[in-house]
Amino acid sequence: MESNGQFTDHLHRRWTNIRRILEVSGPFCHPNFSASDSTLEFIMNSCKILVIGAGGLGCELLKDLALMGFRNIDVIDMDTIDLSNLNRQFLFRRKDIGNSKAKCAAAFINSRIPGTNVTAHFCKIQDFDETFYRQFHIVVCGLDSVVARRWINGMLLSMLVYEEDGSVDQSSIIPMIDGGTEGFKGNARVILPGITACIECTLDLYPPQVTYPLCTIANTPRLPEHCIEYVKLIQWGKESPFGGAPLDGDDPQHVSWVYEKAQERANSYNITGLSYRLVQGVLKNIIPAVASTNAVIAAACTTEVFKIATSCYEPLSNYMVFNDSDGIYTYTYEAEKKEDCLACSQVPRSVPVEDPATMTLQDLIDYLCESAEFQMKNPGLTASVDGKNRTLYMSTVKSIEERTRSNLTLSLSELGLHDGHELMVADLTNPNTVTIKLKFASKEAEMLMADGTEKTVADEIVVTKYKTAGEIVNRTLKTLLEHCIAGASVKELCDKGDKLVTEETGKIYKKEKELKKGIAFPTCLSVNNCVCHFSPIKSEPDYILKDGDIVKIDLGAHIDGFIAVVAFTTIVGATAENPATGRKADAVLAAYWASEAALRLLKVGNGNYKITEGVQKVSEAFKCKPIEGMLSHQLKQFKIDGEKTIIQNPNDAQKKEHEKCEFEVHEVYAMDVLISTGEGVGKEQDTKVAIFKKTDENYQLKLKASRAFLSEVKSKFGTMPFNLRHFEEETKARMGVVECVSHKIIEPFQVLYERPNEFVAQFKHTVLLLPNGVSLVTGLDFPEDHYKSEHSVTDPEMKELLSHAVSKSGKKKKKKAAAEVKAQESAPAAPAAAAAEETQKVSTDSTPNA
Ligand SMILES: [Zn+2]
Repeated sequence: MESNGQFTDHLHRRWTNIRRILEVSGPFCHPNFSASDSTLEFIMNSCKILVIGAGGLGCELLKDLALMGFRNIDVIDMDTIDLSNLNRQFLFRRKDIGNSKAKCAAAFINSRIPGTNVTAHFCKIQDFDETFYRQFHIVVCGLDSVVARRWINGMLLSMLVYEEDGSVDQSSIIPMIDGGTEGFKGNARVILPGITACIECTLDLYPPQVTYPLCTIANTPRLPEHCIEYVKLIQWGKESPFGGAPLDGDDPQHVSWVYEKAQERANSYNITGLSYRLVQGVLKNIIPAVASTNAVIAAACTTEVFKIATSCYEPLSNYMVFNDSDGIYTYTYEAEKKEDCLACSQVPRSVPVEDPATMTLQDLIDYLCESAEFQMKNPGLTASVDGKNRTLYMSTVKSIEERTRSNLTLSLSELGLHDGHELMVADLTNPNTVTIKLKFASKEAEMLMADGTEKTVADEIVVTKYKTAGEIVNRTLKTLLEHCIAGASVKELCDKGDKLVTEETGKIYKKEKELKKGIAFPTCLSVNNCVCHFSPIKSEPDYILKDGDIVKIDLGAHIDGFIAVVAFTTIVGATAENPATGRKADAVLAAYWASEAALRLLKVGNGNYKITEGVQKVSEAFKCKPIEGMLSHQLKQFKIDGEKTIIQNPNDAQKKEHEKCEFEVHEVYAMDVLISTGEGVGKEQDTKVAIFKKTDENYQLKLKASRAFLSEVKSKFGTMPFNLRHFEEETKARMGVVECVSHKIIEPFQVLYERPNEFVAQFKHTVLLLPNGVSLVTGLDFPEDHYKSEHSVTDPEMKELLSHAVSKSGKKKKKKAAAEVKAQESAPAAPAAAAAEETQKVSTDSTPNA
């Protein structure tokens, strides 16, 4: 009884410190963490950990895990214990020499730490399949081999289950904690397969491997390097060639001797791939294992296992580097997932082919082995040629090797391989075959055009795409304007706008399946003092239009990422017979004329502040103010907020920060002007944000809802702005967006308001700066006679500017000259008609201005 009591008491005190972490919540805890005594219960009784490697790191890992409370541990190691291990692989004793590392380590831990159940596997990781690996919650690697790391990485990736929207099913993820040491250097990393950078994503971080454990070299050589090391470390000393001279890696005679002996050893173990060059490489490098480095890295890895198993704290994100060769140096960074990773992306990796007529299959295999991004060992290749699956080369099966050997000297052309041909590659670095894609050099330039270099309006096709998108936007705007009547629902109008854009963009470029098109900016109807971005989601209150409301319609479409946006202001019920007057008319006319001035100033060679000043002057003439700090952005393919911007009414801080720039030919802008009768300061109110867009930021999202949301955003909208309304399940989207916004992966378009009883008007055009003048691809006729104001543009410079038409493209010169004359006669009222007429001409002109 007493001893039992002591044991219980011991157990109780044994876990005091672990309990303090798991049973008390604190400010630094993971947001999902809830303190509970069931967590310790979980790590002790349910959590299954796999440790790969029972060497220097493995011994430390097993000890640390067991002492932290993990009881169900499996360990795999194919090596046996050597005398030279004993200085650091502290679970082994002299009597264990020659026995399995995995078995001895397991036995030691089980006898030393009561309750622990370590299961040993004296074999290779390749001996197990998916069913074995699936039973574990977390895999920890203390390996000395990059090939083995890559293999287990590939295995864990192959076990992922993808959901319909392309996101990874969280329950199929088995986190992998990977430790590595080399002398005084080490690293620890956390890999969430399919989510964060995997081993292959960062393959170029691994230099060609240079050190091998002596036990392997002496007892279980399996690589040519092991044979070389054996000769170097053991045979050279025993046989004392060259009169007992020390081995000199720079002496060709010495290298040749080692090469010969290593070849003999390799032959006796059936190892291939030995070369003179390899001998040279191996001879010059040897780095000793350092026990303290192993201890530090294993501790870091075990801490990550603990954090992930208990969710008590955010895991390492995601790569920690440690170096204690000269003082202690450590830092952590986020290794990035490679978009075309051979292992964790679904994209086949390209292999550059200089000349398919001279590059042989052997050359291709050599490339796969030698290039830093593939580092394959013994690739076997198959491809579909003329509709049949053909094995091009495979060395692992003797009969196939003999049958396919002759292919090695054939060129890729002779083998019938073409540009873009996909080859299936099997290699021992991955449990699965991977796909590579041949990329012939002749196509390189074209590919670059398609992928790398920026497409601009220097290309006629791009101009056509802008104009086509512009026409769709104009037609949609026109329809919406017709529906802006008293009693109309803003929600329904926004929906209608988005539907029209989607339908119309869906009708064109149908044959180009890959071409993306659709909404570039969701339809917004911002009324009266609401400045912008009002497009309520289902759960938010609607707004019903009434006579006298000042309505700003804002929308955009894109074709192949070429964006056409527009904004236009109307007053419900205003007509020529019954024109709007007072401050509402002031706002609309100020915005219209400021926008006209801006369009005339937006030309090649002008600076952006000219527009800032022009917009300011015109709006002041109507006793109005531009909304402070609003930006007009340069447009690029798939980018609605390009680098260059035009600011309106900047405050002092904005003036300092905002960069001056000059407009250049072949640029495109969304010239946006927003004018208020009030102070011109937009503020947020209670209206929930509905419009968002993805940024270029990366962040490891923690919540499943957020990941699902982001994945849907990526696939449906890419970098284009979208409305939460466009999601099938709006509630889920609203949940998912929160974490994305707080980590800046998704950017909100805030709904801003001027003070009550003030009015805001807006005009926005998409402008192409072509060599022969500007081209407006969006905008409609402005019915100037619907508005009556006591104010007008009086500034002589602005009057002069507005008397000229927008486009300098030189077409229909006669008519333009006539318009100018007419304009000068009766400024500023008449230029309206002239400018509007010219704008309309340009915007509806479907051929490029010549
Ligand atoms: Zn990867």
